[in-house]
Parts: sequence; C-alpha cells; structure tokens
Amino acid sequence: MSVLPWPVPSALDPKTQAFPILTPAQINRLRPLSKLRKVVAGEILYEPGDAEVPLFVLLSGGLEIVQPGLSGERPIVTHTAGGFTGEMTMISGQRCLVRGRVAEAGEFLEVSPDSLRSLVAKDAELGEIFMRAFILRRLMLISHGQGNVVLMGSRHSANTLRLREFLSRNGYPHTYIDLDTDQTSQELLDRFEVKLSDVPVVICNGLTVLRNPSTQQLADCLGFNVSIDQSQVRDLIIVGAGPSGLAAAVYAASEGLDALVIETESPGGQAGSSSKIENYLGFPTGISGQELAARAITQAQKFGARMMVAHDVVQLNCNRRPYEVVLDDGSAIPARTVIIATGAQYKKPAIANLKKFEGQGVYYGATFIESQLCENEDVIVVGGGNSAGQAAVYLSQTARRVYMLVRSASLSDTMSRYLIHRIAENPAIEMHYQTEITALDGDTKLERVTWVDRVTGETSTHGICHLFIMTGASPRTAWLEGCVALDNKGFILTGRDLDVPAGVASTWPLARLPQMLETSLPGVFAVGDVRAGNVKRVASAVGEGAIAVHLVHRSLAEA
Ligand SMILES: Cc1cc2nc3c(=O)[nH]c(=O)nc-3n(C[C@H](O)[C@H](O)[C@H](O)COP(=O)(O)OP(=O)(O)OC[C@H]3O[C@@H](n4cnc5c(N)ncnc54)[C@H](O)[C@@H]3O)c2cc1C
Repeated sequence: MSVLPWPVPSALDPKTQAFPILTPAQINRLRPLSKLRKVVAGEILYEPGDAEVPLFVLLSGGLEIVQPGLSGERPIVTHTAGGFTGEMTMISGQRCLVRGRVAEAGEFLEVSPDSLRSLVAKDAELGEIFMRAFILRRLMLISHGQGNVVLMGSRHSANTLRLREFLSRNGYPHTYIDLDTDQTSQELLDRFEVKLSDVPVVICNGLTVLRNPSTQQLADCLGFNVSIDQSQVRDLIIVGAGPSGLAAAVYAASEGLDALVIETESPGGQAGSSSKIENYLGFPTGISGQELAARAITQAQKFGARMMVAHDVVQLNCNRRPYEVVLDDGSAIPARTVIIATGAQYKKPAIANLKKFEGQGVYYGATFIESQLCENEDVIVVGGGNSAGQAAVYLSQTARRVYMLVRSASLSDTMSRYLIHRIAENPAIEMHYQTEITALDGDTKLERVTWVDRVTGETSTHGICHLFIMTGASPRTAWLEGCVALDNKGFILTGRDLDVPAGVASTWPLARLPQMLETSLPGVFAVGDVRAGNVKRVASAVGEGAIAVHLVHRSLAEA
C-alpha cells in the first residue's frame, strides 16, 4: 500500500464528498494542464464577482474560503494539501461567489476554467470527483443562504415573487429578507438609503443596489451571461430551456457541438412549475420539475453547453445562412442550425382583474414557493388537466382546503386516472364541476373570488386569497413570423406534416425532403410542446430534443 503525503478520508459522508482530497496520481494527471504558483499568507486569489476564476489544487499550504457579507466575513472552509477550490460557477462560466485567501504559504496548481471544463468532459474519474464536489458545495451555499446577493422584498409583491423564482430556478444561492416580518431590515434599508417604495431591492456583491430591477438587470448584475461570446457563429442555437431544449443541449454538447441555449426566464420551462412529475422514466417516487431541470442544466454545462438566461429571442433572421437569432436588446447571434424549443405558455381565461392580481394572489404554477404563501389558507385551482390535478394534490399538503373548479362535467377525458383517484380520496380537495369564476376582487391583492355553478345558476362569493390557474397552454411562436410554416393554431409543422398545407412543399428549397422534426426552413428544427402534433409530456419533449441533435449533425454536414 502506498504511503500518501496527506491523509485521504475514506468515509462517504457528504462533507468528504464536498471537500475530497485528491491522491498524488490524480494530481499528476492535472499537472500538464496547470501552472505552478507559489503563494504567500494573506494573498487574495479571488473575490466575489470576479469572472473566469481558475481552479486551485493545493500541493502544500492552506487556503481559506470566506463569504464577505454585510456584517463581516462568514467562514466556509479551509482547504489543505490535496484539496481543491471551486463550485458550480467554474462550470457555468458565471462570476465567483466567494473570497479565496491564502491562510498558509505554499504551492498551488492553477487550472484555467477552459482546461477544467475540457478535463471534466474527458476524464471520467476526475470529472466525477469535481462535479460531485461542485454540486454539493453549491447545495451547501444554498441551504445556508450563502450567496453574494441579498433580496429584500415582501410576500405581497409580484416583483418579489418574480425575482425569488428567478434565483431559485437558477439554483443561485442568496439571502432573502422578508420585510413584512424581519425586525432588523430597517437598518439595512437605511444603510443603502432604500425607501419601502423601492421594494424589491437587491444588493449584489455587497456593493450594487438594484431598486425593483427587471430580471435581466438582476442577471447582468450577477454576471449570469458574462462569458458568452455573441459574435461567434455557433453550430447550434437552442431557443428555450424547457425539457426539450435542455435535452438537446445535453446531447449536442456531449457530441462535441458548439451549442448555445437561450432562455427568456429561467431554465425548466413548464415542467419547472410542476411540483412533482411522477410518470418520467427512472424516477419511481417522482421528481420535482425544478430538480429535474437543475440536474439537466448541470449535465449540459458539464459537457460544455453555454446557457444564456433572462434574454428573450424576438426574431429569427432567416433569409440566409448562417441564420441569426435576434435578442430583446437588438443583438443578433449567428448559428448554422437552430432548434426551436419554446414550448407553450399558459392560457389565461377571460376574467376581469386577472392581470391586476397576477403574483398578488393569482399564480400559474404551484411550486414550493407558492405553497408557502398559502399555508393553512383556502386556495382555488382552476382546470381539469393533469397540471391542475397535480397542483391540487400538492397544495392540499399545506393549504387548509383546495377548491377545484372545472368547466366540464367530469375529469375522465382530461386527467390521468391515478390523479383522479388521488383527488377523489383526498378530504382536503372539494370538487366543483361545471363551475366558472366570474369576478375577482381586492384592494392591492386578491381578497375575494366569485364563481357560478352553470347547472344551478347559483353565484357565490368566497373570501379566498390564492387562485391557481391551470387551464392549458398555447404555442410560443410569435417571434417566428414569416420564417417557418405553422398550423392553424400556431404550432410549428415539421417533417411529413409539411406536405399537408398547400404550398409549403413547393417552397422547400432542397432536393431532399425535410427530415423528421425539421421545419419548412432547412437546418431549423422544432421539438417539444411547440411542435404541431406534440404529446405534452416531459419524456417526449426530452426524446425529441435528443433526436433533433442527431438530425442537426446531418444538416451541418450538408451546410
Ligand atoms: C404544472 C405542470 C405539470 C406538468 N406535469 C407533467 C407530468 O407530470 N408529466 C409529464 O410528462 N408532463 C407534464 N407536464 C407537461 C410538460 O411539462 C411539458 O410537456 C414540457 O415541459 C414541454 O417541454 P418543452 O421543452 O417543449 O417546453 P416548455 O416546458 O414550455 O419550455 C419552453 C421554454 O422556452 C422558453 N421560451 C419561450 N419563448 C422563448 C423565447 N422567445 N426566447 C427564449 N426562450 C423562450 C420558455 O421560457 C420555457 O422555459 C406538466 C406541465 C405543467 C405546466
């Protein structure tokens, strides 16, 4: 048995896996792609907010990792010989979250972010050690609220909810201060000269104060998209990071394509708003949409896919190749091929005042954050599909009572049988068939809901402050105007379906026929819920994302 110059922990406890000690053989594999750096005590190697921070592997000496905060430094860990720095920002290319200060002089190996990313994709053993450690470290930061961002807001503010969802759906560690309940927040507001009318307020890196920022301003402040080169012609741009787009990103990047994903909000799509997906292969006890998305993002980034968030794609320049994907700030990114994975958006029933109460009592997703807002209170779920059924069952765990309002006379045509059974056996859920909402009332937030029973004609008003709308979705294709053929509901036609509407087949420019999932524009593919004939399932969206990448290879070969 070889004698190591430092102790290697053998127990498989989470702390050991988060902060493993590399063996000399593993370190030797890192040497050719790193440079040797001598460090002295007190030297600061990186600060929160720094971009393109390298990974350090300690050969000797010590490095303390701390989180500078509003009330001083919080210690996170001290690395010793054989240990290494870094967390998920190293893979995603985002800005650093912590400060690294040399505690004891010594020698460190310095590995650039690019070298690290290619090592993780190629060296299975080291890739697994680094990825597991980075994921566990990120989870520790999230669970201790140790991020470089403080969000101060109110549970009655729609904009607070928007920013909280953005941070949590991106798995970004942060501290949330609820101004409605926190006693010490006035001191913070005074320190940054913030008025209550500025809420929500975000403090990035303890320096920059954003007053009621847009999601894009928050993303820019945190450097979410800082390392993305917009001038580079990409092999593939994937528009939308729901299950289909994320699957395409994983397969494209793992097969060596230079792939960029652009997402208008946070990755996860509709599935990200699902509290529990129970019918996705391989998860017998179910998985929340956010957890599934978080795993997929990490996997895609591990293989080298780049992810741009908080940017809306507003147009496709489709007159010549390379095509150009135009963003909401007017910039255009060139791409040899495009996968459209923009899914569908919630249908909003025609109820007066609906917009006024969005985020103030009206919600379109039922995740952990919303469930906390209506703890021990009555809620209404509108809709008769699987998403409504899941939401009702999930909310019944925290809410006092769930009123389920359905327009039709039964659920059997629209909902899976397992959910119908669960609802029928749940005493906290009260079904109202053939019932529709007629009015919403309240001062600044939802306070009363009126509904009518279409069979008896009886109208009643209820003091309920939380309404979940789950009434289906329509395709997000407005940005494709004039570029690809759509069906009469706005879904994208692909493959053989393109023969159906008169004229489309005759405008196809190539000698070969469109491939499966290919739109009326060569090299542009559509996958998932945005595609005509889709089956509204996570598994099929993921499958189509994978198939489309296979077809992209063929298209790139002929371009
Ligand atoms: C609450 C709920 C529960 C569900 N439960 C299940 C379930 O249990 N099992 C199951 O199989 N299916 C379930 N579904 C259906 C499943 O989530 C969808 O079929 C799946 O998410 C479709 O994936 P997608 O990638 O095609 O589209 P989406 O999930 O709709 O994702 C599209 C993404 O594209 C982004 N986007 C849109 N336009 C643009 C633009 N112009 N620029 C940039 N980005 C853009 C959106 O923000 C979004 O993130 C559920 C759906 C909901 C709403």
